[in-house]
Amino acid sequence: MPEFFRTESGKKLVTFIPGDGIGAEVTGAARRIIEATGAAIAWEDREAGASVFKKGLPSGVPQDTIDSIKKTKVALKGPLETPIGFGEKSANVTLRKLFETYANIRPVRTLPGVPTPFANKNIDLVVVRENVEDLYAGIEYMQTPGVAEALKLISRKGCEKIVRLGFEFARSEGRTKVHCATKSNIMKMTEGTLKRTFEAVAKEYPEIEAQHIIVDNCAHQLVRFPEWFEVIIMTNMNGDILSDLTSGLIGGLGFAPSANLGTDYAIFEAVHGSAPKYAGKNVINPTAVIFAAVMMLRRLGEFEAAGAIENSIIYTLEQGKFRTRDIVGDAGSCSTTAYTDAIIANLGKKPSKAFVRDYKPIQMPDVPTAPDFVKVQERKVAGADVYVEWTGTVDALGQALEAAASGSPFKLHMVSSRGTKLYPGGSAITDTVDAFTGRFVKGDGSDTSDAELLDLLARVGAKARWAHVEKLNVFDGVLGYTKAQGED
Ligand code: NAP
Repeated sequence: MPEFFRTESGKKLVTFIPGDGIGAEVTGAARRIIEATGAAIAWEDREAGASVFKKGLPSGVPQDTIDSIKKTKVALKGPLETPIGFGEKSANVTLRKLFETYANIRPVRTLPGVPTPFANKNIDLVVVRENVEDLYAGIEYMQTPGVAEALKLISRKGCEKIVRLGFEFARSEGRTKVHCATKSNIMKMTEGTLKRTFEAVAKEYPEIEAQHIIVDNCAHQLVRFPEWFEVIIMTNMNGDILSDLTSGLIGGLGFAPSANLGTDYAIFEAVHGSAPKYAGKNVINPTAVIFAAVMMLRRLGEFEAAGAIENSIIYTLEQGKFRTRDIVGDAGSCSTTAYTDAIIANLGKKPSKAFVRDYKPIQMPDVPTAPDFVKVQERKVAGADVYVEWTGTVDALGQALEAAASGSPFKLHMVSSRGTKLYPGGSAITDTVDAFTGRFVKGDGSDTSDAELLDLLARVGAKARWAHVEKLNVFDGVLGYTKAQGED
């Protein structure tokens, strides 16, 4: 755990970013409640989001906000609007990446007094989502005018960090079961890396039951038997989608908190956005960000205040006198302020069912920082996939690429399109697009030099416009590329 910055009076300093839309109302509620507990917390107010974009800063995050988080190592933030269509990056994503908060923790549990179709289930689970890699890095290209590509980059090191954190998180909360949900049956390398890492790391946590589950089945089981799950580790996009599903199970976005954790830095927020139509109306449910503040207090070691707030929220919901409009509709609902006041008034009270766990400080994983996390003894480039644009027939492309390779050390192994082999031999696919891949392999099985590859590209380029190249790596005898559907 990092050393937290303390003020002269010994309070731990937190960077406070109210955020956009309903942000000020929900973060303000959380701040008032924390102050009412008497926890030794002080605030450093900073800006990010819409107000900053409006001043012309395209990142949406000013330097003094970055400097503040660097100092405090902890931020409580409201939702930040992402401007649509101006080319600006999301200020949220900028913050997560800047501070390498590689884990996104999203807990949900059945709450008393919150009617949902699942209210009779004892849901108490946490999605541990990888937060910086995967398709959400947003690395995209147009290969041809009509064919788009996104790169799903998953590192063994990133998987090691998120899996270890998932187990450490389970341990800190006294959990007994951890799932890892992946699509490794289809994406054997990217999603498969998370699965293999999970299976390897699980052996170091023998007291915790570890189970892999295919992510689509996980979605299905989450709706049928949500009470089975305790901690679910997932890659970024799967975790984003399924954590919205889990929020829905327990009453919606008004109750779904989120912690972005890194080795040194942590940013706490609600899962929901700025809900602009409710801004300034004093009707929004602040519970999600208050639960996020509870997680923040635990990160700061303020376990007593965290437990008191958690108990008070549940007690208040259980009593049912003060509930916001998202729970009970407009009639009979209370304002954000009245709900917050009730939680403050109920500090020290306990709900009928024990709620607060015996939390221990989380041990952040100590994963080596060397970039070459996986080392190999032997490596070879067996050839290359060259992606080309082509509007003629597949047979004509196959013959053109064979002619291009003639006289070079390569031979054309096949032509595929969107992952399915089309040449030689054809396929059942009749409707093709204008993006194809020629797979070239070294005829004698030796390593490919860059000079040979560049010569191949020049040869291919004389026949068809090429867009993208991938080396066919073989690491320690294991193929570092997949076969196309129908390829031998
Ligand atoms: P949103 O702000 O989460 O709101 C969607 C709907 O969810 C609301 O209309 C409301 O539903 C419900 N809701 C959200 N927060 C609630 C709360 N505290 N209590 C009760 N109900 C709540 O999603 P959005 O409209 O798609 O996004 C708005 C802006 O927020 C966008 O600019 C987006 O980029 C940004 N955003 C930021 C973050 C972040 O900062 N982490 C996350 C997500 C989105 P009803 O209409 O049914 O009442």
